[in-house]
Amino acid sequence: MINLEGSYNGWIVFLSFAIALITSYSALNLAYRTSRSKGNARLGWLVVSGLVMGCGIWTMHFIGMIAFHVEMPMTYRMPTTLVSILASIMASLLAFYVTMEKKTTRARLAAGSLLMGTGIVAMHYTGMRSMESDILHLTYNPLLRGLSVVIAVLASYAALYLLKKFKENSSSVMFKWLAALLMGVAVTGMHYTGMEAAEFWCVSPEYAVTGTLEGISPALLLSISLVMTIMVTVIWVALYWERHMLRRLAYNDALTGLPNRHAMNQMFDEKLKLSEGSSVLYIDLDQFKLINDTLGHDMGDLLVREVAGRLGQFVSRGRAVFRLGGDEFLMIINDLRQEHIETLAAQLLEELRRPYWLEGNELYVTVSIGISYAPRHGTDRSSLLKAADTAMYYAKSLGKNQYCAYNEELAHRLSRRMQIEKGLRTALIQKQFTTYYQPKWNDASQRPIGFEALLRWEHPNLGSVPPDEFIPVAEETGLIIPMTRWVLEQACRDCRAWNDKQGVKLGVSVNLSAHVFESRSLQEMVDAALARSGVDPHMLELEITESTVMYHPSEAEEQLAPLQKVGVRVSMDNFGSGFSFLGSIDRISFQTLKIDRLYMQDYESPSKRAIVGTIVMLAKQLDIELIAEGVETESQLEFLRSAGCSIMQGYYFKRPMPKEEVDVWLAGLSA
Ligand code: C2E
Ligand code: MG
Repeated sequence: MINLEGSYNGWIVFLSFAIALITSYSALNLAYRTSRSKGNARLGWLVVSGLVMGCGIWTMHFIGMIAFHVEMPMTYRMPTTLVSILASIMASLLAFYVTMEKKTTRARLAAGSLLMGTGIVAMHYTGMRSMESDILHLTYNPLLRGLSVVIAVLASYAALYLLKKFKENSSSVMFKWLAALLMGVAVTGMHYTGMEAAEFWCVSPEYAVTGTLEGISPALLLSISLVMTIMVTVIWVALYWERHMLRRLAYNDALTGLPNRHAMNQMFDEKLKLSEGSSVLYIDLDQFKLINDTLGHDMGDLLVREVAGRLGQFVSRGRAVFRLGGDEFLMIINDLRQEHIETLAAQLLEELRRPYWLEGNELYVTVSIGISYAPRHGTDRSSLLKAADTAMYYAKSLGKNQYCAYNEELAHRLSRRMQIEKGLRTALIQKQFTTYYQPKWNDASQRPIGFEALLRWEHPNLGSVPPDEFIPVAEETGLIIPMTRWVLEQACRDCRAWNDKQGVKLGVSVNLSAHVFESRSLQEMVDAALARSGVDPHMLELEITESTVMYHPSEAEEQLAPLQKVGVRVSMDNFGSGFSFLGSIDRISFQTLKIDRLYMQDYESPSKRAIVGTIVMLAKQLDIELIAEGVETESQLEFLRSAGCSIMQGYYFKRPMPKEEVDVWLAGLSA
């Protein structure tokens, strides 16, 4: 037996160090990602990091072997070599698995470094074993061999500990570099100490030759190239996938999976200016806040997801849908001529208003859609979005569940509406409201029976704003409640004043919006107005509309009954203008019916005449007072006389007037 002397090629040793460092750095970088991910992604990062580390240890070992020369050709047994790579991959995988959490305990770190160290050692000595043959034997210096194991385990511990530090504070990149360095030390330190521990014995001098690099087995070189290619491919694919996922996260909405606002901005920026014929649809759920407030945010999320799903059905090559946030969506359309966009908007309204079944709840939701066209309303993102957004708000103000295309007139109307909304907030404090009174005239006695209080608003810039314009805004903003309180106070006080002054008994009626019933403050408001003015409750009448009775039947009944008990009268206003007007008078006991003025406008039509005749009979049978509204001409008066209706209200008798004029008018009547 001859003891063979070994020597190293310095450049290849250096290369083996470099390989160990680079692969350790890559593997630790990948292992770090396991602590930040969940589910399948976490499993993926774990497998990839184990694979890279295992392959790295193996590659370093065999490049280290190439650097080593003994005076006989070396051969490697394939099966044992294969076992060695499997051992290093498995051990690395297990070590990273055990230390995967961000807050890894010391015990786990110890277990992880034992596994990693064992993997490196097992790989090395199995690799060495694959060289042994009938002619080549290896023996080891037990002390150096033990030292190689200690180096592998301790350096692995230090590396995993520094990796944990980096996981806890990812801004300290130094930890990552040091961890990679120590892992490199664990692999190379173990290898070269192990090599120092090894003695190479050749059974016969005739086999000993001068070892050269040409003596390297081509199979080994091929295996190393293959493993390195696998390693680089795995790293590349993993990083590409990560980039792709990060991009998806940045450009896709997590809740719905639709592209988000960034993606929309990018589309506008990349596709430059929108071409002729492109359209933008701004889609917003109506009263989404109400759903969130009443059914909770989880249900709101489910609804948004469902809406996104339905919108997704409309996506095609030339169309994209984005979720801008909350309940807002945007559709950009390039494949449809602008004259067909409104048809598409109508289809969207139809599709999105179909009932939603969410966790056993049947939900009915509508949307409002604003449309802008390129290049008519702009070619860049901000002008097209602004125009579509303005149009969407206008569609909402029209009563929701509508679509609306942008135009200048609409922008003007919206700005007026905004001024109204803003102005209403300070109108009460700044005393911009007044109440006007229109008499209800009894044609039989030729005397008034009372007045209807009608609110007037003088806006500092817009001038006189009609109630039909500002009342809906007041209802939407909730300002209708303090406004009603104010009108009730004024009306009762003025009623008391003219009755005291003129020695008459003339009542006053006040219009009530349905929102007053929602606030449940009616009783308290009426009590306060009556108490402060000292007006007899019988003198006060509350006018409610058919839609109030239809949409809030129980609230209205519940809140009106106690007031009626003390004598307050209730009248049905605009009777005959709604859908189910006969049904509505059955629900609440009314003292008065006011026939809508549309019957006067069209009083010559036989059907209207027949309906008025029927209402007169109905009122007589139910013993309800009947008032015809909107009487403007002598012939309308004649018609009402012939139909048997004697109480009327309209410009023919008197237009609504301020309270000072009421006194003069009443004084004129008594004279
Ligand atoms: P309404 O309750 O049906 O009030 C009658 C409306 O008809 C008044 O309009 C009145 O000026 C108008 N009118 C009276 N006679 C004639 C006529 O011969 N011909 C025509 N064409 N119109 C006539 P106004 O004052 O503009 O009020 C409009 C609506 O605004 C009211 O309809 C009522 O629904 C609402 N409103 C007015 N004041 C208040 C209020 O204090 N609270 C609430 N909630 N609504 C109010
Ligand atoms: Mg009225």
